[in-house]
Amino acid sequence: DPGLYFVSTPIGNARDITLRALDILGAADVLAAEDTRSLRHLMDIHGIPTAGRTILSYHDHNGERMRPRLLGELAEGRSVAYASEAGTPLVADPGFQLARAAISQGYMVTAAPGPSAAIAALTVSGLPSDRFLFAGFPPSQSGQRKRWLAELANIPATLVLYESPRRINGLFSDLVQTLGPERSAVICRELTKRFEEVLRGPIGVLAEQVAERPLKGEIVVLIDRAGHKAASEDELETALREALECHSIRE
Ligand code: SAM
Repeated sequence: DPGLYFVSTPIGNARDITLRALDILGAADVLAAEDTRSLRHLMDIHGIPTAGRTILSYHDHNGERMRPRLLGELAEGRSVAYASEAGTPLVADPGFQLARAAISQGYMVTAAPGPSAAIAALTVSGLPSDRFLFAGFPPSQSGQRKRWLAELANIPATLVLYESPRRINGLFSDLVQTLGPERSAVICRELTKRFEEVLRGPIGVLAEQVAERPLKGEIVVLIDRAGHKAASEDELETALREALECHSIRE
């Protein structure tokens, strides 16, 4: 069917792609990708014919120029499938402006949902998942980053950040200063890949670990919400006793 299809692609393990995503890539009139080579490679791995098919490049730096072209294809009644380099388009990746333009012009916009590093990290973090805030990449410069962290510090939700391994050390020393060393945090590295690793602990302990051992690869950092504190056994027992006493008095 004509329209714009946002196709999620793997974040590491090439088999993390849905059957529907492959169907859409196989059938789309027009393919567009942030990185045309990696989309072609992914299609080759899964046996989706790429011979003779053009994959248009669409990324942050040519978006303004390429959007009219893709919207033109939609205007001709064609189906356009777009994939970013990895994971879900629009999640710290291009696609938002394209989605907005297509929606405002009345075209069908749909998603072939799939992997996203933020959700995979939340899943394995062990931090509360009922409420989370995806904050994307922190500013790379320390002063700005501290202000950015201070704004997030009291939000009652698990915070999910993307960070480059080069800056993880700087991020953690700023976290110690802005959020304090006690809060629980999690570092998820190379999810779904061979060297997948999850480090869990108080911010202060993780800060020491990343200072001693530089981390490589792709990283998601998660931080527990402000004021959320795991109840100790004593606290639980007191609360339980109070609740029971209260109950028996009423009876
Ligand atoms: N659109 C992607 C998504 O849905 O997750 C994110 C694209 S963003 C440009 C790339 C960042 O995502 C990386 O710098 C890293 O923070 C995170 N990331 C991507 N793949 C990852 C993986 N396998 N393990 C951990 N983090 C990953």
